[in-house]
Amino acid sequence: MSVSLKAKIAEVFEEPGCDKNQGKSEKERKKGCTKQLSPGAAAGGCAFDGAKIALQPIVDVAHLVHGPIACEGNSWDNRHSASSGSQIYRTGFTTDITELDVIYGGEKRLFKSVREIIEKYDPPAVFVYQTCVTALIGDDIEAVCQRASEKFGKPVIPVNSPGFAGPKNLGNKLGAESVLDYVIGTREPEYTTPCDINIIGEYNLSGELWQVKPLLDALGIRILSCISGDGRYNEIASAHRAKVNMMVCSKSMINIATKMQQRYGIPYFEGSFYGIGDMSDTLRQMATLLVQQGAPVDLLERTERLIEVEEARAWKRIAEYKKRLTGKRVLLITGGVKSWSVVAALQEAGLEIVGTSIKKSTKEDKEKIKEIMGDDAHMIDDMTPREMYAMLRDAKADIMLSGGRSQFVALKARMPWLDINQERHHPYGGYEGMVELVHEIDRALFNPVWQQVRIAAPWELADDAVAA
Ligand code: SF4
Repeated sequence: MSVSLKAKIAEVFEEPGCDKNQGKSEKERKKGCTKQLSPGAAAGGCAFDGAKIALQPIVDVAHLVHGPIACEGNSWDNRHSASSGSQIYRTGFTTDITELDVIYGGEKRLFKSVREIIEKYDPPAVFVYQTCVTALIGDDIEAVCQRASEKFGKPVIPVNSPGFAGPKNLGNKLGAESVLDYVIGTREPEYTTPCDINIIGEYNLSGELWQVKPLLDALGIRILSCISGDGRYNEIASAHRAKVNMMVCSKSMINIATKMQQRYGIPYFEGSFYGIGDMSDTLRQMATLLVQQGAPVDLLERTERLIEVEEARAWKRIAEYKKRLTGKRVLLITGGVKSWSVVAALQEAGLEIVGTSIKKSTKEDKEKIKEIMGDDAHMIDDMTPREMYAMLRDAKADIMLSGGRSQFVALKARMPWLDINQERHHPYGGYEGMVELVHEIDRALFNPVWQQVRIAAPWELADDAVAA
């Protein structure tokens, strides 16, 4: 591992905004968060994958993967981060290195690839991602990017996060470091307002940011940049002029928020767009911080008025589903904030939460679950697919909300399932998103297919008849 990469990883582990790391002893902190992977086990994404996931939603830049083609194949477009304009981010660019490049080095090939992209697509910037093989053979992507930037007069940004550096979460942070080092602060916005904010760690999955943006527009709050959902290079480059940063609950790029506070004095708060109460809290915190930073004081009152109207509207729409959903039991297998932030809305719709997973949740997340669900909150630390199957088959839950990987467990148990993780096709952000979530649960639960698949097959009935 190169010295600069080692130093960057050490820096990321010193993150003051990460409670988990700060809660560790000095010795434990030095070890970082990289867990040794078990050979043969499904390990989740690598650090390269994490960096790519975090930055690919910047929609108008070309994302070039320097490595064997399989790395790009592994990471290409695997989330539904939506764009309101440019589609170049969805084109898979790779240097597709060969055995000869491994022997002679892939730097020339990288340089030529950058040139080809600029000539053919002319994006405002090119992001170059390091991968395991090219890092191991010693390709210096920083030097190539610098040379290419000078030669072509365009930002060419190195993202030094090879897969072997660690897991996906570390990659998110290393990707964020590239944005901090090479992008933020390199341009000035055309104009500024006292209500400019950056949203950090929001990926606009299935268009969730667009469920929140109209609320901010109504309050006169401008999203100067979103890092990175539906993001534009020039907006992110001028993000240092925002008055407030909002760190979306996932904390995947907390280092951007803390370092922007240190470098540019921009205060940040952590908020969530999931759940009705949390959406309101987020708007309140945003307005309060903006007023402290010089926004007009009436923003506070306007925010309260908007919250009142929007909450009433959302609860009214959710109540429509209540008759059908009351008493239905939900098993929530997700992580982090979603382990509690959607619970209140589900409860309000009459659903009963029989269990929520806490494998990826922080201490605060767990406390929040207890606060909402009471002491008898059924927190599941780690549930094997077999246990999940047993729970669904024995009808201890009527529906499972989880990520795509567990869907087959539910389908095998002939039980409804709804995707709530990053691959989902429906947006669940803001007030609108919560209504959408309840609507989707209703659709999944009452889909007539469940009655059909639970009927015994003709040969099973024939077997029964023979046995009788
Ligand atoms: S960067 Fe490394 S670990 Fe990640 S996909 Fe490529 S080869 Fe695999």
